[in-house]
Formats: sequence, structure tokens, C-alpha cells
Amino acid sequence: MKMARIGYWESYNAAATDFWMSPEVASLYELQTPTNSIPTAAMRDRHPAESRDVLQAHYAVCWTEGRPFAVETKLLKADGAQLDCVVHGEPEFDSNGRVQRVFGVVRDVTPEASALRQLADSEQRLADFVSTASDWCWESGPDHRLLPYPKSLDGNSALQTVASGGKARWELSFAPEEQGSMAQHRADMEAHRPFRDFIYTSIGDDGSRISISTSGKPIFADDGTFLGYRGTASDITQLEVARALLDQRTRALEEAHQLGKIGTWNHRLETGRTVWSPELYQLLGLEPGAFEPTYENTTSYFLDDDAQRLLKLQGRVLRGSTTEAADIRIQHADGAPRDLAIICKAEISNGKIVGLIGTAQDVTDRKEAERRLEQLAYTDPLTGLANRALFKCKLAGLFEEPFSDDGHNALLLIDLDRFKEVNDSLGHSTGDSLLIHVAKILRQELDPQAFIARIGGDEFAVLTNSQCASADDPITLANRIIAKLSVPVELAEGEACIGATIGVAILPEHGATAEKASRNADLALYMAKEAGRGRAQLFEPIYAEAVDQKLDLGRRLRQAVETGGLTTHYQPQIDLKSGRVVGFEALLRWSHPERGPISPSEFIPIAESSGLIVDLGHWVLRDACKQMRAWLDAGLPPRCISVNVSPAQIWNGDFEAVVSAVLAETGLPAKLLCLELTENLFVDHTKQKVSTTLAALSKLGIQLALDDFGSGYSSLGYLTRLPFNCLKIDRTFVDGIATVPEKRKLLGGIIALSHGLGMCVVAEGAELAAEVDLLAAFDCDFVQGYVFSKPVAADQAPGVAAEIEREAVMMQARRAQLAACL
Ligand code: C2E
Ligand code: MG
Ligand code: MG
Repeated sequence: MKMARIGYWESYNAAATDFWMSPEVASLYELQTPTNSIPTAAMRDRHPAESRDVLQAHYAVCWTEGRPFAVETKLLKADGAQLDCVVHGEPEFDSNGRVQRVFGVVRDVTPEASALRQLADSEQRLADFVSTASDWCWESGPDHRLLPYPKSLDGNSALQTVASGGKARWELSFAPEEQGSMAQHRADMEAHRPFRDFIYTSIGDDGSRISISTSGKPIFADDGTFLGYRGTASDITQLEVARALLDQRTRALEEAHQLGKIGTWNHRLETGRTVWSPELYQLLGLEPGAFEPTYENTTSYFLDDDAQRLLKLQGRVLRGSTTEAADIRIQHADGAPRDLAIICKAEISNGKIVGLIGTAQDVTDRKEAERRLEQLAYTDPLTGLANRALFKCKLAGLFEEPFSDDGHNALLLIDLDRFKEVNDSLGHSTGDSLLIHVAKILRQELDPQAFIARIGGDEFAVLTNSQCASADDPITLANRIIAKLSVPVELAEGEACIGATIGVAILPEHGATAEKASRNADLALYMAKEAGRGRAQLFEPIYAEAVDQKLDLGRRLRQAVETGGLTTHYQPQIDLKSGRVVGFEALLRWSHPERGPISPSEFIPIAESSGLIVDLGHWVLRDACKQMRAWLDAGLPPRCISVNVSPAQIWNGDFEAVVSAVLAETGLPAKLLCLELTENLFVDHTKQKVSTTLAALSKLGIQLALDDFGSGYSSLGYLTRLPFNCLKIDRTFVDGIATVPEKRKLLGGIIALSHGLGMCVVAEGAELAAEVDLLAAFDCDFVQGYVFSKPVAADQAPGVAAEIEREAVMMQARRAQLAACL
């Protein structure tokens, strides 16, 4: 009884307030008494209120009507636990058929009830799963017709057709392209074979579609009779749409890869295997089946050290989980080089690097175009030599590697002499032919390993290495080049006679950086030019400072020209007969920002050697003409303005046009302009250009004066051939005439000769009244000297001129008075 968790109870009176119960029941109710007689009220309290009343009602009916009962109820234990139990009651009748006793059992059914509850729970769970899953179960009979799905399924008409059953799958309306697979499916089912994931497309009456994936297994009776199939199915329409989209995108990507010549690869760390896409094989001209893309197999296809570079790149990607890109060169199976742009990134799964993935794009065409552009960017199109940009790179590159101890590199800067003159006189195409000729000579004279560049109009640079087989000492080499370049060249337009000046720097001795080396070679070139051109000069540090200063002065002077830091002073020229100021010589003045005023004798040669003189001369010409025009406009008497002209102004470019433009711009009459030229004009130049320019200037009505006569060659030959109006006798010649009789004689002769040639004479630098008297006695026309005035600023010049003229008038009056007295 105890094991069966069951106890017995009985009652002899409907109105009794006690029950008799067996010890098991008493223990169940935790109401033990010595007599096992338990108060009914205490028992009832052990049941929850709702079953308490039910029990009471059944118990009462059992007494009154003799009806047995069995009530399921809870039993509340003192510790709060609840037991499931069933209380049975049976009537016992006396001989009159009246109930004389009610007895029964109380059964603890807690384990059974809990097992039942668990069963109900798990059934419910299963039902929940099935009802919420998108899959459904199906059954078919021996004729393969589907049984109707017992519940309603959410979905379109295509799904409802399947769910309503009554047809074998192949009797449904399905996509025509699935004819073949459906026939195979039918064969499988008819052979009673199980199947998995069979996919078909059902089509509804309204044309709607559903993609279904289904699996099933045949069911047999114990005796082996085939009963049909049972299986599951799921709606994979969305999946199929996504798959179709994915397929479409994959195809599009493949096409893009084909078009863009992009191949992909991936490398698995775990297996150490690399897999290439078919496009990558195609890029290299290899057969997918016949080539295993291992590192060893591929290295021979890389050019230069690109295999190593790629390996290092992959190392970096693996270490840093970065994405890296590089351009590499490979050799296609057809032997031609190809350029590939590689992008490589780490493949990460669950936060761990599992491999590498990458793309390789054939960028040969783009790279070729870039190389061609680079070639154009680094080549001088005329001579085919390297240009300045490449020279700079090459020189910088030399300093990136340490220089070897034995041997040296030399940098030669070559400047052609008289090239501009040839260019101007014989034309630009001759100039071009000449440059091509120079390039040819340089190639001939230099070792094939020497680097030759044209770095400017007529400037060339050479980098040599003494370790070359035929290497000469750089100065010997430079002298040989000068000798070769100085040989007159026969060109279609005539004979061209040029020369060369070369500056040489030894590397790295004469410059620890590319900039210093090139600057020092430039300084050496400068020194060579200063020393008279047509020579080679090795860089010498002691001269560097002086040259440096000159170069600095040149730079500052250029700034002054550009920023208006120059002024013009004017020195009066006096007519000895009338005592009138007939003109002014315009003289440049420059105040150096640190050194203060600098004499033109110092800065004019610098301007001349740097080429700045052309701009400078233009500036002073305009300034002086403008000034004279302003004086005229202010009502001052017309006076001639003398402007100094450097030879380079006439040699280079169209000087006549420059002068005409200035006259037109300022409105100064041509006859009031006098250009002072020196004998240097006739040195070192084709005579033709000079004489045509002077003739043209003279034709414009401009006065021409030969300046500094007596300080140089003093050749009277020019005076007879060229249209000079005036001779200016140099200060050194005038100085001392009062004391040196020979000078006096010579002076008298020159003045007479000039007059004979129809020229007037200006004597420069008269400082003493005695000199003026002597010059007057020699019939000199004009005097310019400190004795009258130093050069003065523009605003003082008219006043100074007025003063000179007033004094002359007074002097003449005094002389007249004196004459009258005598
Ligand atoms: P220059 O053309 O022979 O000019 C005359 C020079 O003699 C001026 O020197 C002038 O100040 C100086 N002088 C005049 N009278 C006397 C005198 O009595 N005693 C002494 N001791 N000197 C006298 P400055 O201004 O120093 O010019 C020097 C030279 O610089 C000029 O000689 C000329 O060759 C050149 N120069 C000046 N300005 C220009 C210019 O605008 N263009 C060019 N190309 N050269 C210029
Ligand atoms: Mg002068
Ligand atoms: Mg002079």
C-alpha cells in the first residue's frame, strides 16, 4: 500500500465529523492520531477550496444517492508542496438498500500526473515547432498522389495547389525547364527510393509560382507492402530569388573581371594551397589544369625582384591585417612582359587570419602609356638626350648609394660659346642642327656609360664614372670636348663657329649632396667664363666664396630690377662754345640692401655675365626717355639724353624694335636720344648684326656715340664704317692733359680727326677748369665732368643745369667785360 502510494478510509455516518483512515492516508494528510480517527474538517483543509467543495458534494451524493465517486484533487502539504491525488468513494448498502457506510481510497498520483504533464508539454512544443516552421510535412499514397495537407498553409495559389493534394507531384503544373529533373524524381519515387532536397517550381492557376525543396522516404507495411511516402517540404522561393540574383551578380562580376582583365587568387594558411581564378591563368597565358600555382612554380614568371617584393607584401598583409597594393611585372607565357596591379588583403574568419585573397589586374597598356609619357617627360626631343628633369633625378640617385672608394664620378657642365649669336644670325633651324651636332659629338667622345643631358638652351651636363674602361681624367676629357666642339661646323645655312666652356666638379669631393655638387660645378663654369671662356675649369673651393658673392649680387640685382630698386642719375653735358647744357648722360644707381650704394662699374659686369643686362638696359632706357619727356612737358629746353647700351643688348634680340617701342611709348623725339656704345660691341661677334642694327637705329634719327674712346683698342676703323655721330673721349685720356704734353697732342689730333669725319666730341671726366680751358682751345664740342657737376638725381638735374648755364652766362659777361677793359 505504501509503495503504491495508496490509503484506505471509511465513514459510518453521513453526519460524522471524523473519518477512519489507514495510516497511509493519515500520513498523506500529515494528520496522524493514535486511533486513526481524523476530523473531517482537518482533512478538508488539506484540499484547495475548489476541489474541497467538489469532494464534499460527491461525498454527500454518495450517502444520499449511493453514487460512487472519484475526484482528482490537489493535496496541500505542510511544507507548501502539492501532491496530485485521486479520492475514490464507494457506498455500502444495508439490506434495505440504504447506504450504511461510505469507504474508499486516496491515491497519490503525483508521478503519473507529472509524466502526463510532461507528455502534454512536449506535444505542445512539437505542435508549436511545426506550426511556426516554414517547412511542412506531406504524405502520399501508394499511387504517389499527395494527401491534402491537414491544416491551412499561408501562401499563394501555387502553394495551395500543392497543399490541397490529390495529384502526384509530376501531375502538378511545374516549370517547363524542370521536365528532365521531374522525370528523374518520378523514376526515383516509382522505384521507392528515398530522396533529398529535390527542387521544383509549382505553378498556380493564377500563374503564381513557388519554389519547393522537398525530401521524402518510402513507407512500407510490416509485410513489405509499399504504403506511400512521408516527407517534408519547404518554400525556398526567396532563397531561389536570392540565388538567381547571386548567380547574376557573379556572372556580371566574372564578365567585369574578363573585361577589366582582372584575375583573383586566394591562399589558405591551413592547407598552404593557392587557388587562382580562370582569369588569372588567362592573364599569364597558362592552362588551369596544367599549372599548379605554387610559389616555386610561379617565381620564374616574375621579372626583376618582383617575386620577392610580392612575398614581402604578403608578409606585411599577414602581420598587419592590412590591404596592400603593388604594381609588378611578369612574363606572359608568350614571352612578352606584362604589368599587373596587385591588391592583397587578409581573409579573416572569426577574428583570425585564415588566408590571403587578392586581385591581379593587367595594366600593361596604362603602364606602357605612363612609360611613354615618362620617356617624353625625361627626354629632350631635339637631341634625344636626357633633359634637365632626368639629369636632376640621375644626380640625386647618385647620392642615394654610397660612392665607391676607388674611382670617382665627375659632373661636367658644358656651356656653348657664341651659340646665341649663331642662332640669331643663321636662324633657329641652324641653331637646332648645331645642337644635334653637339649631342652627336658628346656621344662620340664619351663612354657609352656616361650620362649626357641637355639641361638648357645651350647647356649640357655630363656625369662620368672613372671606373669606365675608357675613363679619362675629367679635365683632359673636358678639354677634348672643347677642342671637338670648337671645330667649325658646316651646316646647310653656312659655317657655324662655336666653342664651349666647361665647369667640372668631382663627386662627392666637391659636394656632399646633389644640390651642392651641381652648384659647385656651376661655380666652376662661372670661373671658366670669367677667365675668358673656351676653357675647362675644375671647381676650386677658394674661389667659391668670391663667386658666390658675385652670384648673390646678381640675384639681388635681379630682385632690384623686378621690384624697382634702381634709380637713374643724370650728369649734364655742356656745350663749350655756348656754355649751355645740351644733354644729360643717364647713369644707373643701385643701393644694395646691405652694402649700400654700389658702383655701376661693379654691378654692370655682373649684370652682363648673368644676362640680366638686357632687362636692366631696357629699364634704364625707358626710365631716361620718360624723364626727358617729363622735362620737356614741364617746359624745360630740349636736351639730348644719353643712355649707355651694353653689347649684349644689341647681340641678343631685336634691339631696334625695343628702342622704337620705348620712343613710341614715351613720345620722346628720336633725335633727343643718344645711345652710347663701347668698342666691346665689336669683339666676339658677327659684324653683320651690329652694323645692321646701328644703321637701323641711325635711320630712326637716334644719335650714336662711341663711349670710352681711348680706354680700349681705340680703333678709328669703326668710326669710318659705322654711323657714329659722336665720340666720347674717356676720362683716363682727359686726365692729365693739363700736365702731359703728349696727351694734349694726341687729344688735339683725335678731336680734329673726329671733326673731319663729321663727328662731334665729348670729353669725359674733366675735373679741373684748366682741363676745360684746354679742351675749349682744342675745339672740343662738349664736356662732361665733375668740374661742372657729378651725376645727380632726376629732381636736381634741371636746377643743376640752370645753375651751370647761369654761371656760364656770368663767365661770358665777365670775359666780355675783361675784353672791353683791354
Ligand atoms: P661711362 O658710360 O663712361 O660713364 C661715365 C662715368 O664716368 C660715370 O661713372 C660718371 O660718374 C663718371 N664721371 C663723369 N665725370 C667724372 C669726373 O669728372 N671724374 C670721375 N672720377 N668720374 C667721372 P659711373 O656712373 O660710375 O658709371 C660707370 C660706368 O658704368 C659707365 O661709364 C658705364 O660704362 C656704366 N654704366 C652706368 N650706367 C649704365 C647703364 O645704364 N647701362 C650700361 N650699360 N652701363 C652703365
Ligand atoms: Mg657712358
Ligand atoms: Mg665713358
